[in-house]
Amino acid sequence: MKKKFEIGVVLPRLAEAVQALTVPVVDLIAVQTHDPFKILVATILSARTKDETTAKAAARLFARAGDPAALESLGEERIAKLIYPVGFFRTKARHLAQLPGVLQERFGGVIPQTVEELCALPGVGRKTANLVVTVAFKKPAVCVDTHVHRIMNIWGYVHTKTPLETEMALRQKLPEQYWLTVNSILVAFGQGICLPVRPHCDVCPVLAWCPQRGVTPRVPPAAREKARRRRAAQGLRRFVSWNVNGLRAAAEKDFVATVAELAPDILAIQEVKALAEQLPEAVRQLPGYTAHWAPAAKKGYAGVGVYVRHGSEPLAVRSGLGLPEYDAEGRVLTLEYPDFYFINAYFPNAQHGLTRLDYKLRFDAAFLAYVQGLAAQKATVVCGDFNVAHREIDLANPKQNVRNAGFTAEERAWMDTFLAAGFVDTFRMLHQEGGRYSWWSYRFNARAKNIGWRIDYFCVDQKSVDRVKSAAILDEVVGSDHCPVALDFA
Ligand code: SF4
Repeated sequence: MKKKFEIGVVLPRLAEAVQALTVPVVDLIAVQTHDPFKILVATILSARTKDETTAKAAARLFARAGDPAALESLGEERIAKLIYPVGFFRTKARHLAQLPGVLQERFGGVIPQTVEELCALPGVGRKTANLVVTVAFKKPAVCVDTHVHRIMNIWGYVHTKTPLETEMALRQKLPEQYWLTVNSILVAFGQGICLPVRPHCDVCPVLAWCPQRGVTPRVPPAAREKARRRRAAQGLRRFVSWNVNGLRAAAEKDFVATVAELAPDILAIQEVKALAEQLPEAVRQLPGYTAHWAPAAKKGYAGVGVYVRHGSEPLAVRSGLGLPEYDAEGRVLTLEYPDFYFINAYFPNAQHGLTRLDYKLRFDAAFLAYVQGLAAQKATVVCGDFNVAHREIDLANPKQNVRNAGFTAEERAWMDTFLAAGFVDTFRMLHQEGGRYSWWSYRFNARAKNIGWRIDYFCVDQKSVDRVKSAAILDEVVGSDHCPVALDFA
């Protein structure tokens, strides 16, 4: 039984709870410096960037430029080098290079203290301005970080679509005594417990008051391990396939925690876009797994990888199709087990203007011949980003995409051929509903509107159909423009 939600109960409880959590980086810099210039610069750096990355970049920059004059003398290129790899570092470097001049011209070189004035500075939006006003000048303003917007809506305290709407709603509703602190509390809370994906409701100090609107809580680690052991006792293996669209970028978006949550026995990833040695240690040596890689010859392009849970090691691992034309692009990895083959594939994209359609169709044909050869020997599981939506039900806007890459008649005809050759699309075998997609464009807010495509698949050969126990699209998992797809296989 939930208690009635009361902001005056919940926020003080959280304020106490987050003391033990990491302090948001901008607050940390405020505590360390009390310098509005540094707080402003750190706040600009922090947008769409992890706190850890921001803190290191800010330290490098402040070691060279502790005031506007020093910043001006650095110039855009050197600023960019110092702040890399914060998100949008080139744009931020340009804004920071312009900042001293605009500050001098408009405000006599002094950091202004109102939201409206701060918004006149390059690279400063309302969120940054509100944060600077509250943190640097201790003046009432409601800073609405993405965590504040998200959590306030989870609580049903506001019903808003954008952070700006949330800011306006909170200005009307939130008692002023919380204006200064709400951002710091909810950022720390949102980073530590109420995570955007699978929040840790099981350890949340305000669970009793929270209506958990639209939330899928994490499975607590102990329960997750118990479920995994139960699956193992039944002889079931969980396979997950995920186009991560750059493993280094995914690493910045909680890839390691997400994999721990999903707890796969085999995780196939596509579009790694890096050599193993370029990867952060945490993803190169994912705890509990052994990794196998098939990178592309071209740096930062394509590439597939497979993580295998310790104790589930294959007999052999093979990279590619044995055809240099395709293998140079890091598209296929095959794991051989005593009773089945597991193939992870990243099919080529036909590209805008269908410039690579011919290449893709040749790859498709070679791939089919390859997997047919394997399936003739033993059970075969094929997964990955096929870069094709098979039927109209598999994308939100079929009519508009009939001649677009991923939905051309030629690509769809190959999918027909693939299935006619005896392979089974496991998700479609078990689920008939539409509106279930695995990829959404980053543009036009497509994911929020569910304007997507189902182009990631788990397929098995005909004789393995009875071994399929479930097939799922894990569309609540974020961290890439694709979501993972999963298969439980006996
Ligand atoms: S119960 Fe869950 S959703 Fe609600 S505030 Fe706590 S962590 Fe967030």
